[in-house]
Amino acid sequence: MKQIDWKSLGFKYLETNCHIRYEWRDGAWDGGELVDSPYINLSIAASCLHYGQAAFEGLKAFRCKDGAVRLFRPEANAARMGSTARRTCMPEVPQELFLEACERVIRANADFVPPYGTGGSLYVRPLLIGSGAQIGVAPANAYTFIVMVVPVGAYYKGGLEPVRALISKDYDRAAPLGVGHVKVAGNYAASLYAHEEAKRAGFPVELYLDARTHTYIEEFATSNFIAISAKGHYVTPDSHSVLPSVTNNTLQVIARDLGIEVEVRPVAFDELPEFTEIGACGTAVVVTPVWQIVRGEQVITVGSESEAGPVLQRLYNQVQGIQYGEIPDKHGWCRLVEGV
Ligand SMILES: *Cc1c(COP(=O)(O)O)cnc(C)c1O
Repeated sequence: MKQIDWKSLGFKYLETNCHIRYEWRDGAWDGGELVDSPYINLSIAASCLHYGQAAFEGLKAFRCKDGAVRLFRPEANAARMGSTARRTCMPEVPQELFLEACERVIRANADFVPPYGTGGSLYVRPLLIGSGAQIGVAPANAYTFIVMVVPVGAYYKGGLEPVRALISKDYDRAAPLGVGHVKVAGNYAASLYAHEEAKRAGFPVELYLDARTHTYIEEFATSNFIAISAKGHYVTPDSHSVLPSVTNNTLQVIARDLGIEVEVRPVAFDELPEFTEIGACGTAVVVTPVWQIVRGEQVITVGSESEAGPVLQRLYNQVQGIQYGEIPDKHGWCRLVEGV
């Protein structure tokens, strides 16, 4: 294995020792195998390629202060993949199999877990795809479940860096009764064009409104919307088409622990100027502060351009502290990976 410069890791693909792969046929999952090659031999008629029968997840394993490696809330990701599988007519991956897959592949790639103190982690990417060959539109008759891992670096080298967000009038992310609430691959394909356009205009993230009325906030393309109100409450939208972010749920629990009231409710676009802090949350970075939101001629500025607000910063520190084993894990979120 080549020596990895942990400090210079970003969030990009890097080949590791192996991935783990399970096959579903005739109603049952096999025992899975570790595969060295990062390629799969897939039928050109696989349903994931033509019709998008593909679900994915994202979670992280951390090398903690005590030297052990722990996965953060994998049961939540297993449950969410189950919900995506049901919505897209794929067989569910049982929780025990999901956990076993993550642990086996992490053990086999232990050298790739960034050391404690580097700010890095091992990004774990489960993938469930329809691999059976067919041309008619129907659920596939064979499925493949893969878990791959990638070492990733600290997203923020200094402190949290606030960004600007764009609300485009030209694109929606998810239909009201569509698939916005599940993690299907196609949701990202659907938002790529808007994302590239926003990037060209100087915005690292785009914020979406509800597709029916364009009056309520939904979420960013790949992360949930959270805000701190003038009263100091944690506010996040309640909508069927928002993806239930594990990070958002974690932050809500931590907020309550700290005595911060949590409001999960419809959030009108018109409320934006009343917030004191706004953030985008997800596994990759935990929280990205958003200091300005632009919609056509409207420019809404919230907080500082140079640093995170105090509440989001505090919540961020708590999450990272629990993930790296520096703060007691009183909710039992960190699952020990044995033998690493
Ligand atoms: C994955 C994802 C998130 C973040 O979820 P986490 O579980 O916190 O990583 C948010 N929004 C969308 C659309 C996503 O696909």
